Amino acid sequence: MTPTPDHPADPLAASTPVIRKDAATVRPPRGLRDAVDPHAAEHHEHVPRSAGLRLLAVHAHPDDESSKGAAMMAAYADAGAEVMVATATGGERGDLLNAAAGELQQCHRDLPGVRRVEMREAAEALGVQHVWLGFEDSGLPEGDPMPPLPAGSFAALPLEQAAYPLVRLVRRFRPHVIISYDESGGYPHPDHIMSHKITVDAFHAAGDAGLYPDAGEPWEPQKLYYDRAFNPGRFRAIHEALVEAGFDSPYGERLARFDEDGEVPWLTKHQVTTQVPVGDYLEHRDRALRAHRTQVEPDGFFFATPNDFLRKVWPYDDYVLIDSRVDTQLPEHDLFAGLR
Ligand SMILES: [Zn+2]
Repeated sequence: MTPTPDHPADPLAASTPVIRKDAATVRPPRGLRDAVDPHAAEHHEHVPRSAGLRLLAVHAHPDDESSKGAAMMAAYADAGAEVMVATATGGERGDLLNAAAGELQQCHRDLPGVRRVEMREAAEALGVQHVWLGFEDSGLPEGDPMPPLPAGSFAALPLEQAAYPLVRLVRRFRPHVIISYDESGGYPHPDHIMSHKITVDAFHAAGDAGLYPDAGEPWEPQKLYYDRAFNPGRFRAIHEALVEAGFDSPYGERLARFDEDGEVPWLTKHQVTTQVPVGDYLEHRDRALRAHRTQVEPDGFFFATPNDFLRKVWPYDDYVLIDSRVDTQLPEHDLFAGLR
């Protein structure tokens, strides 16, 4: 997006929520195990009107925003919130996962250029703003021993250098809520783990005038969430519902990889605290995913469960609240809960 140095007056400023520094950390109650309120869908079919509120989602590569939280962002954008996606890298080292697109000569000549066009189309499909943080894709290292990260790539940079553009963006866009991946990256790619690190750093540093002093006027975001798009509870519920309805489940193999605790070894065990109702926006997500045509197969994994089925079984995008400077009650069904 173009910078907005004269951001319109913050409608919340007049009734600024009490910032409770002493309540900086919210700990989800134990026992809230990726749980779903079976009646939640009846009570929370839509996100509330959200004019005047701003949400920033930090992602590693173009297409991550469409596979994690896309329907949520479309729902909030439609409800009047300003939604911004920040993509850390250009995805230069992405593989061509879609064979048909792989034949396009242009991909071989200029993959980053193709991915920029795809990203623009995805952002339009979701109704969100988008900004590139300008780093170079680190690639997914493979081999034994692992090769070093490419010099100068995103994940190889010192934290302060990698976080600087995000701190500047937070101070310019002034989000109330920030979302990114957990400490495992949600998927063990070095750029995802670095995206997590810069997000946590920016969440804590952006409001502190003593840190990153030349990155703009301090702004203190109010809530920090990690994405739980691939939580085991969700896969299990969808798998069981598919089997019960007599369909083939594409998730059996994935579930078999979970250990006895029902967890994926590299997946962190954060419990879902917040389920955002997104049933009406699954088609927005599909359009955004399909915009990334070099990366996403049109009949692939992400489209394995029909949307009508998802609307019945799991019409949510799932998050864990990690830090909050406002009071809120868990579980939540709204990322802006406590800010209205
Ligand atoms: Zn990625």
